[in-house]
Amino acid sequence: MLSSTSSVCPVCMQRVAAIREQQGNTVYQVKRCPEHGTFRTVIWRGSIPFSSWLRPKKPSAPLQAFTEVHQGCPYDCGLCPDHGQHTCTALIEITNRCNLRCPVCFADAGAEQPSNEPSLSHIGFLYDQVMAGSGPSNIQLSGGEPTMREDLAEIIRLGRDKGFHFIQLNSNGLKLAADPCYAQKLKDAGLASVFLQFDGLKAATHIALRGRDLHRIKEQAIINCGKAGLGVVLVPTLVPGVNPQEIGAIIEYGARFAPTVRGVHFQPISYFGRFPEPPADRDRLTLPEVIELIELQSEGRISRDNFAPPACEHALCSFHGNFIVQEDGQLMPLGSGPTCCSTGEPQAIPALEGRQKSVNFTARQWSLPALPMANAQGCGCNGTDKPQDDLDRFLARARTHTFSLSAMAFQDVWNLDLERLRGCCIHIVSPAGKLIPFCAYNLTSNQGEPLYRGVERA
Ligand SMILES: [Zn+2]
Repeated sequence: MLSSTSSVCPVCMQRVAAIREQQGNTVYQVKRCPEHGTFRTVIWRGSIPFSSWLRPKKPSAPLQAFTEVHQGCPYDCGLCPDHGQHTCTALIEITNRCNLRCPVCFADAGAEQPSNEPSLSHIGFLYDQVMAGSGPSNIQLSGGEPTMREDLAEIIRLGRDKGFHFIQLNSNGLKLAADPCYAQKLKDAGLASVFLQFDGLKAATHIALRGRDLHRIKEQAIINCGKAGLGVVLVPTLVPGVNPQEIGAIIEYGARFAPTVRGVHFQPISYFGRFPEPPADRDRLTLPEVIELIELQSEGRISRDNFAPPACEHALCSFHGNFIVQEDGQLMPLGSGPTCCSTGEPQAIPALEGRQKSVNFTARQWSLPALPMANAQGCGCNGTDKPQDDLDRFLARARTHTFSLSAMAFQDVWNLDLERLRGCCIHIVSPAGKLIPFCAYNLTSNQGEPLYRGVERA
């Protein structure tokens, strides 16, 4: 046994003890419910040592807790006073309508459900709750597909008026692609960045995950965002057997569209909804495997040493690396900070300090910086007759062509780790105005029964 934590039973969702158990290069979470038996799920697999990755943090309670500790984690989310991290990104779901019918959907949006949308004034209340609970964090407007709302620009403007500096739109890009003026309208309202679903370049990938080939639409959305001055982050959902072989191609593609594309944020699939049988370990992709695939598919030009655990959320939830897109399209790593393979005892940093770094970094990196006119076209000229020397050119690119590679591993009922959950900084604002960690809000039993979504206590 490596270490112990706690989790819930996938069937009855009662809290149970869990251990992390290592076999060779693989770490499993093992838990046992007295009534429903033993469950074993892969949580880490590959040549990056699990023990090298962990980073302890000193927990920091929310500014204002909206719930009390009553039944204990994960039943009191809101946040409760026992939560260990502030909100870095608050997700506000502004609609459950969507203009796609994806076989894979985190938000469980669809045509079957009645339309369920908070009014503009209720969204104002939700913004106020975020400010009271956690201060000025980053906001992500989410859905469903948020562009289904006619008043999206007003919603963005309201968020800016409430004091949120970085507002990002989570979108499939259909509407952004269809109308170039639309991106400009959202930018004018105060939008900074688009979190664009982007699963790959192959038609087969799109069809498997989204039901139709969307590649040209995605590209047009990126072009329209760039013209409007919106940064774009490509967000692939990685599904074993579908698109992990496209990781390298997605990174190369994103870099071609720098500086508009600010980075790629991978999300290995997790299993929300009804799954009577546990998903097989081969249907999961763990963080070290994503790093290995980046290394392999970039033919070693990007190395595992370029990636580090997060400063803000729990170390087992994500990785990130920062780069500059050079003129030949290659990524050059920025800095040689602590890496996944660094030796020595990591220092525990205060959670709040990590959170503040992350809020500021995300806002800066995922927005499109103001570009000199000529550089916006990527011609490398400085807009004057004076030729640039190498240092000038490097500094100019370092200002505009930074590029982040990151991934976040969401948890489902099979691999939920309450230590990770307590360190969560990505919070969904529930209809009642509570701040609920993303993975708790989306958690469902193996029969698809939610712990929070649509439930009274949320
Ligand atoms: Zn049980």
